[in-house]
Amino acid sequence: MSVNTYETLNAKVGRRSFLKMSAIATAFGFTSSFASTNATRSATEEEIKNPFPGSKIVKSICTACSVGCGVLAEVQNGVWVRQEVAQDHPVSLGGHCCKGADMIDMVRSEVRLKHPMVKRAGKWQRISWDEALGNIATKLESLRQNDGPDSTMFLGSAKFNTEQSYYYRKFAAMFGTNNIDHQARI
Ligand code: SF4
Repeated sequence: MSVNTYETLNAKVGRRSFLKMSAIATAFGFTSSFASTNATRSATEEEIKNPFPGSKIVKSICTACSVGCGVLAEVQNGVWVRQEVAQDHPVSLGGHCCKGADMIDMVRSEVRLKHPMVKRAGKWQRISWDEALGNIATKLESLRQNDGPDSTMFLGSAKFNTEQSYYYRKFAAMFGTNNIDHQARI
C-alpha cells in the first residue's frame, strides 16, 4: 500500500474500512491491478504534510455509551475526515474502547439509520417521528389490553444516564410490569 493511495482513498473511507479493503484486496491479489488503473497519483509533499487543508479540530464525545469518552474530530468543509483520541479528556484520558475508535465510520456510514422507517409491502419507507411514536404506543396498548403487561419486556440502553434510567424504570412500572433489564448486562 503506498502513501498516496492511502491518502487519496482516506478522503472517502475511514481508516478502519480502508484497512479492511486493503486486506481483502491483498487476499485476492487485486493490489497490482488496482494500482495500475491510473486512478491515483502521487501526493505532493504539501498534501502528505497537510492532507485536509483548512480543516479544524472539533472536540466531541463518543455517543455509543454513556461513559462519554473524548473524541477529536477533524472536520473539513463540514465533513468529518479524521479522528483522534482526546488526550486531555477528564473521563477517558486519551483512551477509547473499540466502539469509540470506530466512531467516524459509524457517523459516515452510508447505511446509517437517520429517520424512522417502516416496511410496507416489502419496501422501506420513511415516516415522521409522530407516526413512529403513535405506532409504538398503539402496539404497546394493544399488547397490554390483549395479553397483559407481562407480555412485554423493557430493555434499557447503555446510552442512558442515571436520570434516564430512573424514568425508564418508572415507565415500566406505570405500564404494569417488572420485566426490565439493561442491554449491557446481556
Ligand atoms: S462506547 Fe467505548 S469509547 Fe464510546 S463512550 Fe463508551 S467506553 Fe467510551
